[in-house]
Amino acid sequence: MTIHCPICNRSSDDTKFIGEICEFCTADKIRGAIAKSIDMYRCGRCGNILVKGQYKPLGNVALSDLINSVARVRDCTAKVTGYSKNKVEVDYECDVNGELAKFSTTMDIRPIKQICPRCYKISSGYYEALVQLRGDVVKADKIAEKLFDYIAKNGAFIAKSEQVTNGFDIYVSDKKLTSEFLKAKRLKAKLSATLATIKGGKKLYRNTYLLRII
Ligand SMILES: [Zn+2]
Ligand SMILES: [Zn+2]
Repeated sequence: MTIHCPICNRSSDDTKFIGEICEFCTADKIRGAIAKSIDMYRCGRCGNILVKGQYKPLGNVALSDLINSVARVRDCTAKVTGYSKNKVEVDYECDVNGELAKFSTTMDIRPIKQICPRCYKISSGYYEALVQLRGDVVKADKIAEKLFDYIAKNGAFIAKSEQVTNGFDIYVSDKKLTSEFLKAKRLKAKLSATLATIKGGKKLYRNTYLLRII
């Protein structure tokens, strides 16, 4: 039986229908409920964007998560397929009374410049651990490289690294990761903690790890 869309009069002979309404009008109806633009908090240094409280690398995945969290449309899932400076291309899949409606749309994005906590820490010289490698310089250098790799891979950073008499001083942003690294590499260090700051009643202790390399 041929039916006609009550909104645009398209025929069911050449258009897919979702219930009583053609797929185009269904899409238009849903489109009306989609936010025209979204705010995107972006770190001016690393370029990562804020998604559900976390900074993530800008890309289709992060943008999809952002849209599905701040501009969620009921029974719909947004999937970003491309983006430019101020626009995103989005594919929507919606469940309309048990039937699947698919359509594409574009949204404006308003980038708002921020500095993410990680970049803020980097710029302020933040560190939690000082690793002092002493002894055989060649071996120390190898350990230092492995430490750099490990720290970078796990999302932390090296605040500073310097060569000193008979070794290296390496300032690491994360003491937990530093401990994990030493444990994983079976490196025995002499640990001492010093009180660095008290922030909002919370004490921040810095760890110094002294490693004698023979
Ligand atoms: Zn229609
Ligand atoms: Zn950043």
